[in-house]
Amino acid sequence: MASVHLDGLKKVYPNGFEAVHEASFEVADREFLVLVGPSGCGKSTLLRMIAGLEEITAGTLRIDDRVVNDVPPKDRDIAMVFQNYALYPHMDVFSNMAMGLRIRKMPKDEIRQRVHDAAALLGITELLDRRPAHLSGGQRQRVAVGRAIVRRPKVFLFDEPLSNLDAKMRVEMRTEISRLHRRLNATMIYVTHDQTEAMTMGDRIVVLEAGRVQQIASPLELYDHPANRFVAGFLGSPAMNFWPVHLQDGSLVVGSRQWTLEGELSSVARDALAAPCVLGVRPEDLHLGAGGEMALPSLRARAAVELENVEPLGSETYVYWHEDEVLSVARVRPELRVEVGETVELVADLGRAHLFDAATGAVLCNGMEVMGCI
Ligand code: ATP
Repeated sequence: MASVHLDGLKKVYPNGFEAVHEASFEVADREFLVLVGPSGCGKSTLLRMIAGLEEITAGTLRIDDRVVNDVPPKDRDIAMVFQNYALYPHMDVFSNMAMGLRIRKMPKDEIRQRVHDAAALLGITELLDRRPAHLSGGQRQRVAVGRAIVRRPKVFLFDEPLSNLDAKMRVEMRTEISRLHRRLNATMIYVTHDQTEAMTMGDRIVVLEAGRVQQIASPLELYDHPANRFVAGFLGSPAMNFWPVHLQDGSLVVGSRQWTLEGELSSVARDALAAPCVLGVRPEDLHLGAGGEMALPSLRARAAVELENVEPLGSETYVYWHEDEVLSVARVRPELRVEVGETVELVADLGRAHLFDAATGAVLCNGMEVMGCI
């Protein structure tokens, strides 16, 4: 297997548009690295540069110790799985999986062995003589993955491989690909716009916005210690609430509402709040005051809000209200019955809340209590 090194990798399309701005990071041997970001952020362009399908404008790309900027795709020892599967409709599954090996003139016996091994691994042995038109979306996706596996490449590249599948199949394939990663012990780079896929599959995640790397870290590190407001808002569902805030007479003021502070703010948080900033609170860190909390957080803010919507999901309930002009959401325990129009007391766990610079979005403080802050 192999490591992949990007050093200042840049892509400017012929029309002058800069799709990727100097990306520098390393994908370790056997790592599962996810590139995530909203549509148009440049993640496919980055992956295609690694694959050799897109010319590199500037910077250096290495696979292990070999600079591959100008090496054609077929000589990079990588295999790519595409969103649209790209299967040959007139060939059966066996031939689709064998195609790349036949082109390389591999002996027939070895091809047969490799295809059967991969098919067994993916649970598609009984489909080997079918054509793609007679397969479900999930089965086609497995064939596309199988075609990559038989090559035994140094690096697997996946470009949104699950986006054409329905929700249930996506969950199944997510597990399957993670299992494959463990079985094959392979280096994998996986592009998605889906934050759940990124969080559940990646050893590490690279978050991209507008062609720029925002942060690279493990899923939970990104979730708990976002570098900026973009990363904080991109990961998590429902998304983090962001409220313009300032400190006044022992309260956090958001628009016309005062959140009464209880406990001691860290000096970092107090300094940050000296200027207007943005408070970030995740829905699960807002609790219903009346009997809602299991144990009160040590640093908290309380306010009464009027609920505008209540969504009981069974396992949890989402409640919505406006905080200043921001539609906000708390994820509360389902057994606490609340109704639209009811005024409830909410308790925000500030030990887990974040402060961001109002102008730049850079994080000022992850966790606002004395012990918790960075
Ligand atoms: P998506 O999830 O929608 O596929 P992405 O993050 O993968 O998005 P890319 O396909 O890498 O985004 O495209 C990044 C940016 O580069 C987009 O703004 C896109 O419009 C632009 N772009 C892509 N290909 C070209 C091209 N050939 N010429 C000019 N601009 C391009």
